Order: sequence, then structure tokens, then C-alpha cells
Amino acid sequence: MEMSEKATFGENDHKRETICIFGTGDFGRSLGMRLLQSGHPVIFGSRNPQNSTLLPSGAQVLTHAEALKECKIIFLALHRENYDFLLALSNLLDGKVLVDVSNNLRMNQYPESNAQYLSQLLPKAIVVKGFNTVSAWALQSGSLDASNQVFVCGDDDKSKQQVMDVARSLGLTPLDRGSLQAAKEIENYPLQLFPMWRLPLAIAFGLTVFFFVYCVVIDVIHPYVTKNSDVSYKLAISVPNRIFPNVSLILLSLVYLPGVIAAFIQLQRGTKYKRFPDWLDRWMLCRKQLGLVALAYAFLHVLYTFIIPTRISVRWRWIHSMIEESKLGHVTLLLCTAHAALFGWNRFLQSKWYRWGLPQAYMLGIVIPCVVLVLKLIQITPCVDRKIIRIRQGWERIPKTKQALV
Ligand code: NAP
Repeated sequence: MEMSEKATFGENDHKRETICIFGTGDFGRSLGMRLLQSGHPVIFGSRNPQNSTLLPSGAQVLTHAEALKECKIIFLALHRENYDFLLALSNLLDGKVLVDVSNNLRMNQYPESNAQYLSQLLPKAIVVKGFNTVSAWALQSGSLDASNQVFVCGDDDKSKQQVMDVARSLGLTPLDRGSLQAAKEIENYPLQLFPMWRLPLAIAFGLTVFFFVYCVVIDVIHPYVTKNSDVSYKLAISVPNRIFPNVSLILLSLVYLPGVIAAFIQLQRGTKYKRFPDWLDRWMLCRKQLGLVALAYAFLHVLYTFIIPTRISVRWRWIHSMIEESKLGHVTLLLCTAHAALFGWNRFLQSKWYRWGLPQAYMLGIVIPCVVLVLKLIQITPCVDRKIIRIRQGWERIPKTKQALV
């Protein structure tokens, strides 16, 4: 390498690893700029090194073969359709870490994921999938707050960790999704519409339908059948205003339930260094969205409470609704559950409130919150809490088989 080229790297050479990027298109340029800002020396590999324009200053541009010699990690900012030219470089790629950032135009476009295809094409290279969920625009503008999570997967743990370290150095949060088998799911991810909102919205919809049918049966159909009284006007305001607080409260408790479950799983395993089951991972990832949907329902409850020509006494519900999504967390859940329980405390034991043997909607609505609160209560007892804190600080229970060896 020329002396002048070395000088362009600046003084951070020894601090951060040199990263190679194949492809000087939108993604390659944005990633290069971000890497340079984070102190990584960057070398682009391009078909036309002389004609490459708009590249971030401080980066080198070489031919693919030349660029390869300088780095261990190579980001392929290329489309899958252009991977074939890499075959000619297969000897030079032996043992190198290739980061596949590619996306497809539609879900399941190819039988195998792009990353698996690349791995089959170049069996001696180590393929890691990642960064495909971050857009070139987000990398360039730095507005990563909403989408700073990057999913990473690969069969070689050491290389995967290296790529995750690069992600961290860019201010991203890498999430290890396991082996290269997960690449297909990761590639489909950007093509899904609001993926994190699907589950919360589906749960909210399911609960809304359930409580609607339930409230109609006991508040509208029951009086009609037993007393021939037509109270269908309740469908407009009274029934929705029973649905909203119940759904809101259940959603709020579903925000905290996965955290409590995770703590018990860690307690049972005696370590934090094991992956949670996939369903729990997914649930935890959409807690923010669950909380926001809960807030929306609480807001509707407030709105409806003020629409109804209310007794002043019921307006105090508003206070509780307003704090549902505040940082008070479990205290909020406790207050809201207490509010619902107090609202009908004298009805629990009176049979007249059980129409056709069915409990009132709010009684159902507080079941899950009560479960969460009881589990949380167990969790914060000093002996359990102490153990969870130790596990989360890295302590591990030695398995009995290992104890015997010691
Ligand atoms: P792009 O602007 O079209 O750039 C692709 C680059 O590939 C070209 O600039 C070119 O670089 C190189 N190339 C083109 N034809 C080639 C060939 N026949 N042989 C070898 N190299 C060739 O695309 P992009 O938007 O940067 O996307 C690149 C990859 O990143 C894609 O797989 C995409 O799915 C993924 N991605 C993009 C974004 C985004 O926001 N753009 C976000 C996430 C993931 P040279 O001329 O220097 O060789």
C-alpha cells in the first residue's frame, strides 16, 4: 500500500478495524460514511475505482481484489443478482467474513435466503447476515432512534460477534437471531408492514371483539330476554366504554407480563446466558407497541367518560387513565387494577350481577392484571429479588453434574 493511502486513514487506525465495502451505491456510501464517523478506516471495492464519485471523504476505493487484501470483514452492498462475480475471487475470500446486507423485492422471492445462497456460492468464506433492516437514509441522516435494532445471524459465533461489535460501534443495537437458517426471516422482515404492530393490534382487536360480544350479551340481550326492555341505545356509548378500560388494562398488563416470565425463566435456569424462547423474544420486542395501544384505549375511555352525561364521581377514573402509560409502570398497573376492582367491589358477591351466570366484563378484565401483579409480588420478595439481581449481574448456577466434578 502507498504511503499516501495510509495517511488518509488518520490516527484511528489502531483503534478500529478496517472495514471493506463492496459496492459504491446508496447503501455502501451511507454505511461507509457512518463507519468513518465511528473511526473505522473504510476501503471500497468497486468495478470502477477511478470513476467512483460521491464517496465519503477519507475512504479509499480500490478494485475488489485489492480491497480484499486489506480487510477481514467485507460488507457486500450489492444485490444478490450480482453475487456471481465473487466466484472469481473465491481464493482471496477464503476465511473472510462476508456480511450480506441484501433485501429482496418480495417475500420468499427465492427458495433459499440470499445469505445461504452466498454461503453455498463461497463455502470457504464465512457469511453473516445483518444490517438489512437499516435503510441507507437512516444511516446517513443518523435518525436511527426508531429503528436502531439490527438482526444478525450466522453459523460462526466469533465472526458474528465481530459483526455485532461493528454494529455497536455505529450506535446500533445488534440482536443475535442465531444461525444462518434465520436469514430468510430476517430478509422478509423489511417487507412486512409494521411488523412490530401486528401482534399488539391483533391482540387488541381480539379482545375488543370478545368484550363487545360479552357486553352485548349481558348488558343488551339479557335485559331484552328477561325483562323485554330494549336498551340497545347502550351500544353507542355505554358498551364501548366498558370495552375500552378492560382492553386497556389487559394490554397494560401484557406489557409487564413477559418481563415477569423472563425473570422466572432466568431463576429456573440459574443463568442469564441462555436465549429465551422465540415467542417470549417476540413478545418482549413489541412491548412498546402494546403500551401505546393500551394508551390509545385508555384515551378513548377518557373521551367516552366525558361524553356520557356523567356523575361527577366517575370522573376520577380519568386520573387513572392518564397515568396508564407513564413511567410509573407496575404502580400504574396496580392503581388501574385497584380502580377496576373498587369500581365493582360490592358486585362480586351478589348473584344479581351475574347475568346468565356470567361475571361482569370488568371482572374478566382484571384477571390477567391480577396474575401479573401476584407474579410481580413474588418476584420482589427479598429472597427471590436478590437471586434475580445476581443472575442479571452475570452469576450462574453451576449444574449438579459440574458440581460433582468440582
Ligand atoms: P445500488 O445503489 O444499486 O448499489 C449497488 C452497487 O452494486 C452498485 O453501486 C455497484 O457498485 C455494484 N454493482 C452493480 N452491478 C454490479 C455487478 N454486475 N457486479 C458487481 N457489482 C455490481 O443498491 P443499494 O441501494 O446500495 O443496495 C445494495 C444492497 O443493500 C442491496 O442488496 C439492498 O437490498 C441492500 N440494502 C439497501 C438498503 C437501502 O436503503 N438502499 C437498505 C438495506 C439493505 P460499483 O459500481 O462500485 O461496483
